[in-house]
Amino acid sequence: MNEIFKGFLSQLNDEENLKVVSQNINTPEKLIPLLLKRVHPKNVHILASIIKQSLLPSICEETNDEIDKLFTKIEEDANLLFDKNIQEKIKEFITKRFERDKQVVIEKTSDISKLVVLMEEYLNEAISSNGSGTKNVLNIREKIEAININENGLEALSKLQNELINAASLIEKEMSSVTDKLETGKTKVQELEEKVKTLEEELNKTKIENMKDHLTGLLTRKAFGDEVKKIESSYKRLNTQYAVVFFDLDHFKKLNDTYGHECGDVVLSTFGKILNKSIRDLDIVGRYGGEEFIAIIHFNLNRELLQFLKRIKSIVVENSFLYKDKKIKVTFSAGVAIRSSYDTYENTVQKADMLLYKAKENGRNKIILENGMEI
Ligand code: GH3
Ligand code: MG
Ligand code: MG
Repeated sequence: MNEIFKGFLSQLNDEENLKVVSQNINTPEKLIPLLLKRVHPKNVHILASIIKQSLLPSICEETNDEIDKLFTKIEEDANLLFDKNIQEKIKEFITKRFERDKQVVIEKTSDISKLVVLMEEYLNEAISSNGSGTKNVLNIREKIEAININENGLEALSKLQNELINAASLIEKEMSSVTDKLETGKTKVQELEEKVKTLEEELNKTKIENMKDHLTGLLTRKAFGDEVKKIESSYKRLNTQYAVVFFDLDHFKKLNDTYGHECGDVVLSTFGKILNKSIRDLDIVGRYGGEEFIAIIHFNLNRELLQFLKRIKSIVVENSFLYKDKKIKVTFSAGVAIRSSYDTYENTVQKADMLLYKAKENGRNKIILENGMEI
C-alpha cells in the first residue's frame, strides 16, 4: 500500500474504516464505491440546517445561543458534521436541551399551580368575606402579580397571569358594590327595627291602659275576668278561700241629675280608690260597668271578710265625697257570696248579684251576705 493510499485511509471515518477491513479494500479503485456513498457537500449543508432546525428554538434561551454558535461554524464548513468531536457536541446538545427544557417546563408548571392556588385562595376569601374583608383579597392579588413569569419568558403564561389579575380586579369591584349595598341595607334594617321597637312599646302601653278603667284606674271587666282565671286555678289547687262582692252606688242617677255628670265621675273615681286601697295583695277589684263594682276578697276566717266589708261601709257612710266646694253623701249596696258554697265561679257571681238586688229591695245602703247577715 503506498503512502498516498494510506493518507486516504487516515481521513476515513470509523464506519468506512470498518468496511475497508471487512471488504479488504487495498487499492484506490476499490475505495471509490465506498467514497461515492459519502454525502455530497451540498446535501451536508441541507442536513446541517435540518439538524439545526430540529434543535431550535429550545425553550431554554441559554441553549439557543450555544446551538446558534455551533451551527455558524458548521455552516462555514459542512464537513465538520463528520467530525467526531462535533458529533459528540451535537449529541450533548440534544440531551442538554431535553434536560433544560424539562427543567423549564417543571418551573412553569409550578408557576401555573402557584397561580391556580392563589386564585383559589382569592376566590374563597372573596366569597367568605362579608364585604368588609377586602384587605386579604388585595394581598392575594398582589401575590398573583408578584409571580415572576416574564423573567423566563413564557408569553402564554404571562397572558394567563394578566387575565387572572383582571378577573381579580373585577371581583374586587363587584365586592365593593356589594359592600355598599349591604351597608345601605343595614341602616334600613336598623331604622325598621327602631320603628318596630317604638310600635311595640306603644302597643304594650295601650295594652296596659286597656286593662285599666280610664275613670277609676281599676281593672276593666275583661281584665278582671282574666285575673279571675288565675285566682280560680289557685283556688282549685290550694283551696284559697275567697268571696265575690258586688257593689252598686245608690240612687246614682239622682246624684248625676243633682250635681252633674262631672260630679258623678268624681264620686265614681273616689269610690274606686277607696276599694282599691282597702284590698290586699291577692285581692282584685274591677269596674263591672256604670256605677257597679266587683271585688274578689280572700280570707281565712269569716271575721276577716266582715272586717273588710265593715271598713268600706264606714268609710263611705262616715265621710262625705268632695266635689268642688260641695260635700256629698253617698251610700252603696252590696251582695256577698262565698266561693266554696257554689260549684262554679259563675254561680257565685250570680248569687252575689242576687244578694245585691235584695239589698236594694230591702232599702239600700246595706251589704247582704248569703247567710242572711246584713251590714
Ligand atoms: P239604684 O240605687 O237602683 O242603683 O239607682 P241608680 O240610679 O244608681 O241606678 P240606675 O241604674 O238607674 O242608674 C245608674 C246611673 O249611673 C245612670 C248612669 O247615667 C250613671 N252612670 C253610669 N256610668 C256613669 C259614668 O261613667 N259617669 C257618670 N257620671 N254616671 C254614670
Ligand atoms: Mg246604682
Ligand atoms: Mg246599677
